[in-house]
Amino acid sequence: MRAVIMDAPGKITIGHRDDPRIIEPTDAVLRLVATCICGSDLWPYRGVEPADHTPMGHEYVGIVEEVGSDVTTVKPGDFVVGSFVISCGTCEICAAGYPSKCVNGEFVSVTVGTQAEKARIPFADGTLVATPGLPDEDLIPSLLAASDVLGTGWFAADAAQAGPGKTVAVVGDGAVGLMGVLAAKQMGAERIIAMSRHPERQKLALEYGATDIVTERGEAGAAKIKELTGGLGAHSVIEAVGTEESLRQAIHSTRPGGHIGFVGVAHGGVSIPADELFFAEVHLHGGPAPVRRYLPELIQLIWDRTINPGKVFDLTLPLDRAAEGYQAMDERTATKVLLTL
Ligand SMILES: [Zn+2]
Ligand SMILES: [Zn+2]
Repeated sequence: MRAVIMDAPGKITIGHRDDPRIIEPTDAVLRLVATCICGSDLWPYRGVEPADHTPMGHEYVGIVEEVGSDVTTVKPGDFVVGSFVISCGTCEICAAGYPSKCVNGEFVSVTVGTQAEKARIPFADGTLVATPGLPDEDLIPSLLAASDVLGTGWFAADAAQAGPGKTVAVVGDGAVGLMGVLAAKQMGAERIIAMSRHPERQKLALEYGATDIVTERGEAGAAKIKELTGGLGAHSVIEAVGTEESLRQAIHSTRPGGHIGFVGVAHGGVSIPADELFFAEVHLHGGPAPVRRYLPELIQLIWDRTINPGKVFDLTLPLDRAAEGYQAMDERTATKVLLTL
């Protein structure tokens, strides 16, 4: 099968990998319908993480081709959405709602690689969710968004306890931040402050439910949030960047007793002084999003056309042109790139 391979940082090629097949009785093999490039794929692209002929991709929707003998919830012909983390669905951590930290878990980016024509998904019952039927073409981008960015933005808003009467501030205007705005709106937040300097992203944030835009960053950004909230800070803050500056911006934008949904992936070297965190007196909850927990609800909201997260894709390319997609995301000329098969 054809697959996206990162030969070295910054070097994307379309290579060939063996067609996947059922190995374990809990596996499913999917023919992928759409996949995409993630902000986290830019880490190896920019040489921050290693890349050496690495298969890429962890977001996916597809049609089940074949299942192992123990799989009960999906069958050949089903259209499915899967999480970016493989999860068994039965261990104590999965049962508690944290499939992204499943004791049998693995990252799809590491062991599967879904920027490809097909994928073998272990623990199909614990990882995949079938849609009610074959989706209309225009729903596919939204269903694909549920696989990671929507699920992650949703978790961030949930962890930040966005809801009625709450003011939510969103640090980060990438795909996850925008999905956090959508999620906060859907959860009934009263006021949603999107922090962005990028006109196109500001526009989409407003469309998704932002009530205010703040262009300042760092300490100036946090000061602006305080100013907009009577000096107190937001009740709920979504951190969707993962740098030291953005994390501190989030902490300093939160009122005492408030909640931070922390989903920006922090890379080596990001540290927060413990005393700063201690005296902020805020709740901090985050990590890799337990997307599988939210998938049934998110699929239904998309199916009913209540939400339209697919608008976050602003460039669509065939898989064969993936290199252009990586370049566009690296140069920030695209927010998120959908790859068709
Ligand atoms: Zn992703
Ligand atoms: Zn598990």
